[in-house]
Amino acid sequence: MKLDVTNSPFNTEQAEQINTLLSSLTPTQKVWLSGFISASIEQEPLQTSNNIQEKDGVAQSYSTESSTVAKRPITLLYGSETGNAQGLAELFHKRLIDLDFDVDLKAMDAFKPKNLKKVEDLLIITSTQGEGDPPDNAVELYEYIHGRKAPKLDGKRFSVLALGDETYEFFCQTGRDFDDKLSELGAERLYDRIDCDVDYEEDAEKWMANVVHALNEETSSTAQSEVLVSEGVESEQQQKYSKAHPYYAEVLENINLNGRGSNKETRHIELALDDFNDTYEVGDCLAILPQNDPKLVEALIERLPFDAETLIQINEAGDKLSLQESLSEYFEISKLTKSLINHAVTLFNNDDLTEKAQQEDWIKTYIEGRDLIDLIEDFPPKTIEADQLYQLLRKLPVREYSISSSYEFEPDEVHITVGAVRYESHGRERSGVCSVQLAERVEPGETIPIYIKHNPNFKFPKNNDTPVIMIGPGTGVAPYRAYLQEREALELKGNTWLFFGEQHFTTDFLYQTEWQNWYEDGYLEKFNIAFSRDTDEKVYVQHEMLKESQTLNEWIEQGAIIYVCGDEKHMAKDVHQTLITILQREQQLSEDEAEDYLRALKRDKRYQRDVY
Ligand code: NDP
Repeated sequence: MKLDVTNSPFNTEQAEQINTLLSSLTPTQKVWLSGFISASIEQEPLQTSNNIQEKDGVAQSYSTESSTVAKRPITLLYGSETGNAQGLAELFHKRLIDLDFDVDLKAMDAFKPKNLKKVEDLLIITSTQGEGDPPDNAVELYEYIHGRKAPKLDGKRFSVLALGDETYEFFCQTGRDFDDKLSELGAERLYDRIDCDVDYEEDAEKWMANVVHALNEETSSTAQSEVLVSEGVESEQQQKYSKAHPYYAEVLENINLNGRGSNKETRHIELALDDFNDTYEVGDCLAILPQNDPKLVEALIERLPFDAETLIQINEAGDKLSLQESLSEYFEISKLTKSLINHAVTLFNNDDLTEKAQQEDWIKTYIEGRDLIDLIEDFPPKTIEADQLYQLLRKLPVREYSISSSYEFEPDEVHITVGAVRYESHGRERSGVCSVQLAERVEPGETIPIYIKHNPNFKFPKNNDTPVIMIGPGTGVAPYRAYLQEREALELKGNTWLFFGEQHFTTDFLYQTEWQNWYEDGYLEKFNIAFSRDTDEKVYVQHEMLKESQTLNEWIEQGAIIYVCGDEKHMAKDVHQTLITILQREQQLSEDEAEDYLRALKRDKRYQRDVY
């Protein structure tokens, strides 16, 4: 966003000078400069309520002054699976405290649903899982407010920030459900819900600034306006490296772990962390900024009426990149979303598309397995300008992979375990953006942009008193390799149990010799394997778990933590059901009691999942 006389206190000349300067700065320089300016005016009294200034109803940024308005207590709740919603909630909590608000921050599962009737202002930040489900720690509150015992919430105020991924059908569904239900129960919206796509930073800033603005109002009102957004979310959250400031890691090793004849290609990638000055923990992820396949970019440019070198606008702020560069690194081109189709209706001016896109069901079916090239071929744009592409395309999301190495064991390196995604659809071969880039186009000696994405909900004990049960078929085994490396580094033996599964023993036994060595050396106490395609009947990890039902229950009763990592759609659901069966069988519980038991384990962080 650019400054001008209507959205800032500067005259035209000053605004132009500042815009020129800002456009030449890196995000780090901007953060430094803002700190410098704050420090330099520290002694000066603030002339206005300076940090929330209103112009034409626009909340411009945060207030550092105590408001004279009596502040109502705020309850800030988050529902988070991978830590994004939690990170935002912690950041917002800190900001609200700095602004002198009385605010109580809690994970939803640490909040007693019955206390809902006692809250005054309720702020919710929540993600959505796979098929529109609430994250694990949001389930109880979600069910409570949707159940018969939900209280009337007249007189309460609320606002919801929903995190999600536009490529999923039930985009931000959990946030939407909370928003609808709280309103239905009588609470008043303090500020409208914002639905964020994977690139959530700017929208989250907007929500936070407007919520603060609304909280500062004497009476509640819904601020609809845009705010000046900063890179605050990212720079405050990611202390070291981030999407805006990745670390360029040299590739040391890139090998296929599967043997000849396998149906799979699983890459083991080792990256150097020289002068990294950051750390990671077992359970954390490595975020990679990927590039689109050059062949796909070339094919797309051939179908567009613009030259590869044309400079095009890539965002609202007016930043520019060449068409080539923007399609390679900045925009997502290999997936279609409902919102993309709706924008294409406006921008393409193609009557056929306009007519078809009136039906939601048509959009839902059409976007499945198709990409931008398909859309342009099927519905050639009549009117699109190069500078409008940014209105059509979303930013290329970073990809996150569970780290498969331990910082304690090997601080100068980080390893990941990545399954190459390749499939055919609508008559063309397709590939996963990042997994196939890593499999086919990244050689040792090259560098790739990365940063660490911490996962507060997938944490491992650093002692050998707590029994640890690890369930991870396929690439889901990655964090357990990291954990056993860590236990070796810390000399922690025993009390670990791994369930691993893949298709074939001979070709797909990922890290086979490492597990065997850890088993022989006592770092891994128990090890069960399930090769699904070596026998007539499929054998999966949950079949092994059932065989060990009694011992598994003993471990659980002795305080074990259960970890599940890997496929969300089928495996994680089946493993969950198997745990219920085991608890029913071994502890003579009813199905509901076994569910409650698992829910309690989740609350106590003794049942943790990283599923995708
Ligand atoms: P998979 O989970 O696909 O396969 C590992 C083993 O699990 C196989 O033996 C498979 O058997 C078995 N399996 C299949 N269904 C079940 C089930 N219901 N319960 C238990 N085991 C089952 O391993 P991958 O590492 O290939 O993929 C893991 C998941 O991650 C997949 O869902 C994949 O789509 C997803 N994913 C992977 C990415 C990556 O790393 N590139 C990126 C994004 C998502 P069989 O095949 O014989 O049925």
